[in-house]
Amino acid sequence: IEEGKHNGSKFAHLTRAHPCFNEKIHDKVGRAHVPIAPKCNIACNFCTRSLNTEENRPGVASCVMKPDEALEHVKEVTKEGPIAVVGVAGPGDALANDETFEFFEKIGKEKPDLIKCMSTNGLLLPKYADRIAELGVNSVTVTVNAVDPEIGKDIYSFVVYEGQVYKGKEAAEILLKNQLEGIEKVTNDGVVVKVNTVLIPGLNDKHIVDIAKEVKARGASIMNILPLIPLNKMKDYERPGCEMMEKVRDEVEEIIPVFRACTQCRADAYGIPGKHGSDRYLGRTPQSHY
Ligand code: SF4
Ligand code: SF4
Ligand code: SF4
Repeated sequence: IEEGKHNGSKFAHLTRAHPCFNEKIHDKVGRAHVPIAPKCNIACNFCTRSLNTEENRPGVASCVMKPDEALEHVKEVTKEGPIAVVGVAGPGDALANDETFEFFEKIGKEKPDLIKCMSTNGLLLPKYADRIAELGVNSVTVTVNAVDPEIGKDIYSFVVYEGQVYKGKEAAEILLKNQLEGIEKVTNDGVVVKVNTVLIPGLNDKHIVDIAKEVKARGASIMNILPLIPLNKMKDYERPGCEMMEKVRDEVEEIIPVFRACTQCRADAYGIPGKHGSDRYLGRTPQSHY
């Protein structure tokens, strides 16, 4: 794999052990997701979480672990098998929940050898980039589905930012700007960034190459292109076929390395990704996060 612009050696080091960055070990090394982050601060039109500004549905809140429970969970599952990575991937946005920071602080002390990873929509990435790096988080996945607000406005219904609700193009402008600034800042701080992009046929399929160019220029090391699962407000969109997925992945690979082994994990998955009998989940959070 070609090395990322700013973090070449860090990227090479990370890919040796992280299943989400290395297809060759994807079915050999485990990761544990801890569902400690229920709140989300944006509304993606394909998301199945029911959202009203920053509040949680009780159903979602009751499915979530506290940081200390998550710590115990990680200690347990690392006894059961080879777990290299601990990740916060929702079920909401990692950075919209203080518990994420508390958890990383604690796990860093108790299990310093684990790779620390998180996924985010990137809205709060400029604000927290330095803190993420200080906590020793090794990799951040940012989901970027557009770099043009004209396209972004059809993907996001609203964004809650600094206590204000924004809609339409204005919401997309804030989100996209912060995603790109955040990627730049956190990669400059030495954290490796993967970009996830949901391919939405007829909306961003021809735009993904532009996303690849932009995120590469900002320091991202690798991209992961995921097919839309048509749900919620996007239920009338098509699910992209293999041919379209392959075509876009090939185009993007001309620009930045593409990760192809992803099967879209749940926010509470643990074990070795996709391995029968070894890939488990807690069954307590919805499969909503990309
Ligand atoms: Fe939030 Fe993730 Fe759902 Fe988007 S997909 S609304 S970022 S939880
Ligand atoms: Fe992999 Fe994303 Fe989880 Fe990190 S947060 S371990 S990249 S799925
Ligand atoms: Fe990460 Fe995707 Fe692999 Fe899950 S299937 S561990 S989300 S790369």
